[in-house]
Amino acid sequence: SAPTRVALVTGTASGIGAAIMEAMCQAGHQVLAVDFSDDGAEVADKAGAAFFKADLTDGEQCRAAVEEAVSRFGRLDILVNNAGIQHVERIKEFPQAKWDQIIALMLTAPFTLIQAAWPHMEKNGYGRIVNMASIHAHVASPGKAAYVSAKHGLMGLTRTAALEGGESGITANAICPAYVRTPLVDKQIAEQARLNDMPEDEVIEKIMLKGAAIKRMIDPAEVADMAVWLASDKAGSVTGSSFNMDLGWTAQ
Ligand code: NAD
Repeated sequence: SAPTRVALVTGTASGIGAAIMEAMCQAGHQVLAVDFSDDGAEVADKAGAAFFKADLTDGEQCRAAVEEAVSRFGRLDILVNNAGIQHVERIKEFPQAKWDQIIALMLTAPFTLIQAAWPHMEKNGYGRIVNMASIHAHVASPGKAAYVSAKHGLMGLTRTAALEGGESGITANAICPAYVRTPLVDKQIAEQARLNDMPEDEVIEKIMLKGAAIKRMIDPAEVADMAVWLASDKAGSVTGSSFNMDLGWTAQ
């Protein structure tokens, strides 16, 4: 059977991160779940993961999370950069503080976590970096300047890490989902309704799923399955790639 690995997953208190944490535990891995929400402790405990509370917009706390994984489990093999937030507002009015927070959490934190994890992966000759990007790593939508910029940037970080990790058994890949049914998206539905002056069900139909061939939202467990595979020993020849799970959005 596949060896037990040690995984650090971020943004595990809710949504996709919670599903990835659960799937990693079910795959037999030892998991350190990292989130800044206190809810994360209970969610992790239920799944059989250890929990570390950290605000990942702070570099020191990112490094502390990696140190916690290594001191607790003795190694670090898998890093899933998943924590993320959204803010929907046109560039004209986009608050500078939101821009700074989104870039810090969704681009700088993955860089810092990768940097901190790197020597541990290099030492073992094995590493799996899985970055939760988005279909917004490839296309844009109005009102999402910071999110789209962070995700495009994360794709660049993924490709660079892939090139640098090739000799050390470290792979880096990105998952690019369209709309996954999570609290983050529920909040966006409400925001888009306000921005476009539309009822919420119309937002889902006319905005969220407008470009989708498959007219349903993605389940977090579907994304988690892909993350577990990318983090597995079997995926050793896959690196620098992005995997769209976008309901056919970018097929046209
Ligand atoms: P979510 O809001 O359900 O979960 C995000 C988690 O990140 C929460 O547990 C939150 O507490 C945590 N978090 C937020 N700020 C943090 C901080 N400063 N430090 C530590 N933890 C923090 O969101 P989700 O929909 O599950 O999104 C997870 C990832 O997937 C994000 O990167 C998001 O951009 C990406 N994504 C989501 C969708 C979607 O449709 N939901 C689509 C594509 C990509």
